[in-house]
Amino acid sequence: MKEILSAIQAGASGDELAALPLPESYRAAFVKRDEANMFEGVASEDKDPRKSIHVDEVATPELAPDEVYLAVMASSINFNTVWTSIFEPLSTFGFLDRLGKESVWGARHALDYHVVGSDASAVVLKVGSAVRKWKPGDKVTVHCNYLDDQSPSAHDDSMLADNQRIWGFETNFGGLADLSIVKANQLMPKPTHLTWEEAAINALCNSTSYRMLVSRNGANMRQGDKVLVWGASGGLGAYAVQHILNGGGTPVGVVSSQSKVDLLHSLGVEAVIDRKVANYRFWKDEHTQDESEWRRLGKDIRALVGDDVDIVFEHPGRQTMGASVFAAKRAGMIVTCAATSGYMIEYDNRHLWMKLKTIKGSHFANYREAWDANQLICDGKVLPPLSAVHPLEAVGEAAYQVHHNLHEGKIGVLCLAPEEGLGIDDHELREKVGEDRINLFRNSGA
Ligand code: NAP
Repeated sequence: MKEILSAIQAGASGDELAALPLPESYRAAFVKRDEANMFEGVASEDKDPRKSIHVDEVATPELAPDEVYLAVMASSINFNTVWTSIFEPLSTFGFLDRLGKESVWGARHALDYHVVGSDASAVVLKVGSAVRKWKPGDKVTVHCNYLDDQSPSAHDDSMLADNQRIWGFETNFGGLADLSIVKANQLMPKPTHLTWEEAAINALCNSTSYRMLVSRNGANMRQGDKVLVWGASGGLGAYAVQHILNGGGTPVGVVSSQSKVDLLHSLGVEAVIDRKVANYRFWKDEHTQDESEWRRLGKDIRALVGDDVDIVFEHPGRQTMGASVFAAKRAGMIVTCAATSGYMIEYDNRHLWMKLKTIKGSHFANYREAWDANQLICDGKVLPPLSAVHPLEAVGEAAYQVHHNLHEGKIGVLCLAPEEGLGIDDHELREKVGEDRINLFRNSGA
């Protein structure tokens, strides 16, 4: 991989890159099948990704005709890597085994290790014989919607494909590595004004938020809409508030510290609730929710923006869903893509049906949505919320920080890129967007 990196740094042509031999093995972050039970009996919060994620050499897989080899310059930590590393709610080896039974090429994935990671900024090294739109030397980012486009269910909205998977979570050979293989229909252009690490962090969370809020497959947000965003400076939330501001809406951000409140203000979000200060107790005990606390949240929202919200951007799940269903206005929508605090959800259905509200499930994004969301990054209209950067060897520590909510925005990971700050091609655009704004999350101290 050293030779490949030197060639990339020296500006080698696509033909020169394609002519370089690939190594038989490469450095990657992975969990092991024989350790899938290592946390049995351990409380969820004590399951430690630093113990389960290993960084070592793994064998280079063969390339399918519709795939490309990537030199991964940088990647990022997503919550799905946390789930894989603590083997919750399931061990991801079950996903790999199922994929392994689907096809000859699928069989490559069913291994005794799972290379994790669902984001990347990268350089295309070689393309399979069926790849048409991309070539060696292309600088790319990768979206994680992995599907078999020979299934009729994958056409129309490809998130409805019956064999839809998330790359690096439900497939092997993920992005937290020096090398990866992805399908050509996962590739998108790298934003030219960003460094490798700034470009690497966006695709998964930005695309997910875009579908949830902007797409007609999600809440189809309109100008003037008021939107409650839980975790508004977190991975998803940091993009959500930017989509809302760009689309002429009013975000009401919820966060858990004064420094995060300040960060959101500097991003242009005026209405912010510090949930630690508000100290909402939506659950009286493990089994009983407190409607008066939902009402207190509603009152706090109205005090900030003068009305109830049209949309609630939901992902904490069990802890907040009752309050979210209550807080949406008549005919409002609660759009949800996750349940970090628990997936067995409870809410008062009377508030849903009597006020004609909708709960909408959403999951990642189709290629069109991911591409459009990527374009917003390329145009400098959505900023990369990069707050910290770790080397590949420290993926366990970085995942630990996300697991324990010690971060904000996104954590980047350097893979082949030897240091931070490399990979910028369009300095003029960078200057136009503004160094301060691009570095907002890094400089916030939140
Ligand atoms: P993240 O970076 O950890 O951000 C989540 C934020 O939610 C935290 O910063 C925290 O903010 C807030 N939060 C956490 N627990 C909360 C609680 N009990 N009540 C209220 N707020 C709480 O994670 P993320 O990347 O945004 O992902 C969030 C969830 O979405 C994860 O479960 C992830 O797996 C899932 N996800 C799903 C998809 C999909 O396609 N389905 C895509 C991306 C992510 P404060 O402490 O500041 O309030």
